[in-house]
Amino acid sequence: MKKAYRASLLRFDAAGQPVFDEDGLLVVAPDSTGRQRVLDAGSHAAVAPRHPEAHTTHLPGRILAPGFVDMHIHFPQTDIIGSPSPGLLPWLENYTFPEESRFVDPAHSNEVADVFFDELLRNGVTTSLTFATSHVASVDAFFEGAQRRGLRMITGKVLQDRNSPDGVRDDTEQSLIDSEALIRKWHDVGRLGYAITPRFAPASTDAQMRGAGELAAKYADTWIQSHVAENRDEVSWVRELYPKARSYLDVYAGFGLMRERAVYAHCIYLDDTDRALLRDTKTRPP
Ligand SMILES: [Zn+2]
Repeated sequence: MKKAYRASLLRFDAAGQPVFDEDGLLVVAPDSTGRQRVLDAGSHAAVAPRHPEAHTTHLPGRILAPGFVDMHIHFPQTDIIGSPSPGLLPWLENYTFPEESRFVDPAHSNEVADVFFDELLRNGVTTSLTFATSHVASVDAFFEGAQRRGLRMITGKVLQDRNSPDGVRDDTEQSLIDSEALIRKWHDVGRLGYAITPRFAPASTDAQMRGAGELAAKYADTWIQSHVAENRDEVSWVRELYPKARSYLDVYAGFGLMRERAVYAHCIYLDDTDRALLRDTKTRPP
């Protein structure tokens, strides 16, 4: 059955330009799978005559908008949001890695994924580019949950084969085999997408980074996500680990990890050459 909602509408036209209808009408109806789809949207005066049979709900004073898109978030960190720490590196060691090690368990992964999706939806977020953990179970749980809810979601198995404690550190060769298997299992299935996910340069060996770059070339329409230059201690650490790289960002470029659909979180301590590299490779900050 067709349903219509009369409220102010924030929407995007065919050219991607934002349009605001002070008095708008959104018309939806279920498709063959039972999911509600937008049939029509625009000013009430223009749209209402086209759907005289639609049952209309009035929402005066409300604005209806498309779902928000969150381009960087970690679903396994739902339970440690707000944990106090003097900086990124101790925060990883004291909170993140112990919590993430629990995602080897599919039941724990499912439980947290459910809470995460509920929270996203409560805040109007319908799509996210999300870190999972280094465990295959975390990726399967996330995609299964997104699929059940009909959400457009992107995630990937985190790659971290060095400078990581037991419980989250993965094996170089197996990590690449698992990533490829997950790409084949989930990428482009319905509304889901896979992101090749090196945690950040200090946590991957050259061999793992090279393997990630090879997967990124072989599966050119997957996403890539990682972190860069969030914090000065992290930037100095990368300079020690990669003395030949021009910059932190340049490490990723050297392994073929900058291209369209690559998204690097933070990008705080970049210079103009880095920014030009982002532009020229069509890589994005989130
Ligand atoms: Zn992050």
